[in-house]
Amino acid sequence: MCKIYISNNPSSIRNHELGTRHKENVTKRLATMRKENAAKDKEHKETANALVQIEAVRLFFLIKHVILSVKVHRFICISLERLLENLNVLLMNII
Ligand SMILES: [Zn+2]
Repeated sequence: MCKIYISNNPSSIRNHELGTRHKENVTKRLATMRKENAAKDKEHKETANALVQIEAVRLFFLIKHVILSVKVHRFICISLERLLENLNVLLMNII
């Protein structure tokens, strides 16, 4: 963690780990990790938000399309009903 050479015997490792410099480095490393995790979380959240936004826009236009289709359908139905009425009157006059 400290990028310095320590002889590989337990007492010098222990001695180093009790030192101020090592403790500072551990604190720094933890702060860096916390910062990196926060940045990653933020990035994930932004990606998720972007996907939700794309899906919401897609649904918005899909619903608009369905509503328009229903309106066109209704218009065609009304026109056909009038046509049927006219045909009915025509047939009544013939018979
Ligand atoms: Zn250290």
